[in-house]
Amino acid sequence: MARFIGSIILSCFIVLILLPAVLVRGLDWREEKKLSYEGQQTVDLKIGGKMQKLPLEEYVKGVVAAEMPADFEFEALKAQAVAARTYACYQQERKGSLSADFATDQAWLSQAELRKRWGLFQSFRLWRKVSQAVEETAGEVLLYDGKPIFAAYHSTCGGKTEDAQAVWGSAVPYLKSVDCEYCKESPRYKQELDFSAHDLAVATGVDLSAQAVGTGGKVLSVTAKTASGRAKRVRVGEKELSGTDFRGMLGLRSTNFTVQNQGGRIKLTVVGNGHGVGLCQYGSQGLAKDGKGYRQILAYYYQNAKLARGE
Ligand SMILES: [Zn+2]
Repeated sequence: MARFIGSIILSCFIVLILLPAVLVRGLDWREEKKLSYEGQQTVDLKIGGKMQKLPLEEYVKGVVAAEMPADFEFEALKAQAVAARTYACYQQERKGSLSADFATDQAWLSQAELRKRWGLFQSFRLWRKVSQAVEETAGEVLLYDGKPIFAAYHSTCGGKTEDAQAVWGSAVPYLKSVDCEYCKESPRYKQELDFSAHDLAVATGVDLSAQAVGTGGKVLSVTAKTASGRAKRVRVGEKELSGTDFRGMLGLRSTNFTVQNQGGRIKLTVVGNGHGVGLCQYGSQGLAKDGKGYRQILAYYYQNAKLARGE
């Protein structure tokens, strides 16, 4: 009798628990299968005017090494690897090639250049670490609507990442502003600048001679801010400029700044470094130090994007 009851319990266990679990796993597997990405295996990379074909994963190693300090936490490097690979796939599909110049695309350095940067003593260890971070995420790409996303990233957001619309003019569903209290340790978190109205006139090309500088007149003010608090519009004397243009003219680290006009001197407090869109590198480092994995880091900064496994 006891054996009979035992076999009934076992049958119930199989039908009610084990079978649904297997079925659900099956669905999960199909879902992951759907999210595989069979895209680029190589990239066409322009290095100093010459085009070279590189295996995608080799290219990603050179980008991670160039774009993120190699002594960062391992999970931060893995998040950077996925962002760099995704960016490469996006641009290779869109433009047919990439540039090794950071002003055009992501920075990329050859192993010979990295040896110079790191020194012979450190380069073996650091290259191995970067390589491992790339290899452990091999083929993984972030997708939206089945396509690689424009995986923007920057050094230090300074408390809140920026919405892509505020910087590039069009809304991107996976590049929304998120709070980031994880980049406070960044050496580029805050910068204080102090300059004269004359310096400002030279940098912006605006004639400030009519301004009542000596009497405490405001030669510079932020007239409109983006949703994340960065300068959207700036007034220099009688002229209005976009926050992004003003940043470029003065070579500021970011558009996240506050202004104080003090009797002819102008004080700027600049927070963060970079455009602030997408993944915050120092924030990723902070999250990794808190024990977060690279998938959690990516899901945090690229909300609405999905991670596809490599084949
Ligand atoms: Zn941040």
